Amino acid sequence: PTVIAILNQKGGSGKTTIATNLAHALKRDSYTVLLVDSDPQGSARDWNEASGGNIIPVVGLDRETLAKDLQAISQGYDWIIIDGAPQIAKLSAAAVKAADLVLIPVQPSPYDIWACADLVDIIAARREVTNGKPQAAFVISRAIKNTKLSGEISSALSDYGLPVLKAGTTQRVVYPTTAAEGLTVFSDPGSDAAREINTLKKEVLEVLK
Ligand code: ADP
Ligand code: MG
Repeated sequence: PTVIAILNQKGGSGKTTIATNLAHALKRDSYTVLLVDSDPQGSARDWNEASGGNIIPVVGLDRETLAKDLQAISQGYDWIIIDGAPQIAKLSAAAVKAADLVLIPVQPSPYDIWACADLVDIIAARREVTNGKPQAAFVISRAIKNTKLSGEISSALSDYGLPVLKAGTTQRVVYPTTAAEGLTVFSDPGSDAAREINTLKKEVLEVLK
């Protein structure tokens, strides 16, 4: 399988939202998808319980042996999506080790961007011992609709030397309301929110080609 880790040590950056919605987008393309909850708080597991486990299989792996443990359970899946843990650097490093692609959801605010420094260092350290694996990119999360990213935000992000995906999520109430029911924005596949997640999925597939 291809492993995508959705990481940011800052809580509330949109990891679980992007993990669940991206996983569902891939499943709707007839891929088999496993969602790995590496957050000891268990948000993805709570989401799964709220839906009765009907959308995506979710497994909790919130330990440093994640990369190794994952190998034992990942057979047969096309995609593994790892929902990242806040704060705990060792868990982030474990997820980076397992990943083919790290997506870093970041809200377009300087504090949130500065808070990514440790994670970017973890990724750089991993790439040094692996000849460039994993790939990594920022995903702008919870942007205000119809506002362009300011030059300051763009340049703060580009200082990290990682690409910023063109696709991202905008601030929409449908994300928390669907999550509360254990669902995703694909409850309404024709919605603008579903469209932005599908656009994100397409760009991710493109990046991994
Ligand atoms: P993390 O997993 O990084 O802690 P979450 O995905 O749980 O972040 O998001 C934090 C909160 O923000 C949640 O209540 C979630 O529903 C909400 N949220 C995330 N993305 C969006 C969005 N694009 N629009 C509106 N609310 C969002
Ligand atoms: Mg979360």
